Amino acid sequence: MKVLIHYNEIGLKGKNLPFFEKTLMTTIRKAFTSATFIKDSKRFIAELSGNRASITGILSRILGISSFSFIETCSNDVEVLKKKAVSMLKKITDKEHFAVAAKRSDKRFPLSSPEVNVMIGDEAHKLGFSIDLTAPTVTLYVEITDKGCYLYSAKEPGLGGLPVGCSGRVLCLLSGGIDSSVAAYMMMKRGCRVDFLHFHNFLDETRVASSKIPKLVEVADRFQSPSKLFLEAYSSYEELTMGRIPAAYDLVVFKNYMLRTADEYCKKKGYKAIITGDSLAQVASQTLDNINATSYLVDSTILRPLIGFDKNEIILLARKIGTFDLSVEKYQDCCSIMAKKAETSVKIEIMKKLLKKIEEK
Ligand code: ATP
Ligand code: MG
Repeated sequence: MKVLIHYNEIGLKGKNLPFFEKTLMTTIRKAFTSATFIKDSKRFIAELSGNRASITGILSRILGISSFSFIETCSNDVEVLKKKAVSMLKKITDKEHFAVAAKRSDKRFPLSSPEVNVMIGDEAHKLGFSIDLTAPTVTLYVEITDKGCYLYSAKEPGLGGLPVGCSGRVLCLLSGGIDSSVAAYMMMKRGCRVDFLHFHNFLDETRVASSKIPKLVEVADRFQSPSKLFLEAYSSYEELTMGRIPAAYDLVVFKNYMLRTADEYCKKKGYKAIITGDSLAQVASQTLDNINATSYLVDSTILRPLIGFDKNEIILLARKIGTFDLSVEKYQDCCSIMAKKAETSVKIEIMKKLLKKIEEK
């Protein structure tokens, strides 16, 4: 089927435009058994395999698309356009509040956009349509370009954002909770390709496979191609600290340990940043002092896309991307077993002393 794909934001990227367009085209191509493209200014005409429902399902999950429409095309000839418009009008059943919205980018076409509106409006009138330009329920869009005319009556919303991959690879610290998978999605939306690192609390790592963690990754991956899930054991932190960290500081030191481990992965595997689901002051380890302390000695850039969000906003997003139900399923996360009364203001000087304690074996 022929689909007109708009990508507003990446249309703004000037010299980088071809790279963004190529990334988006590659993503779309991978999602369909067959996909061919005609590039027009700041949009594609794609010929995609599948039916309307399956194509809609796929395109509405591809980041970088601002909207898409199933279109009919014809040549830039006034009579041919009129005929095509009439054949489309005959398929429309809701005739009460109708409008035509023509846009002419090919200035060689002999009629202006308002003149095309009038021409098709007249035909609609003859077929019993009531024209309503203030609050139409059905609009016939007509785009006249130098590649031909595109006609469509519905615009499906896309997710917006940038195509996955154009901002590089990053590593998300994934917990079993609500926030981190939403944070991963937010950065996918800014063009990041996301892999995951989870600290588990099982004695045997193979038990992670049957937990909700790989399922969460699978759901988040619906917005990108399959990712890698790296696992580390909480017990490695316990072995290192051997109970030398006072309970009130344990959470912040552990968060720092997770970030420093993620930092090593970034250096070894070339990730450009670490993502966390931190939201300012949401829990004890997320006060500004503690965020500073947890970031101590971490060289890689840490992205915290949810920092200014409140929990309800995060939950809405988790529902939208489909991770919410899994996130609230019971799971023995490392942080949940730590002291309930964690210190809320760990200064860097204290952090240094705490890390020294670990080194003194
Ligand atoms: P979430 O809902 O994602 O668990 P949260 O509100 O529970 O977040 P914390 O438990 O303080 O907040 O965790 C803050 C961030 O630290 C998480 O969003 C995640 O990025 C990281 N994190 C927490 N626990 C783990 C874990 N077991 N493995 C990897 N990263 C983790
Ligand atoms: Mg958590």
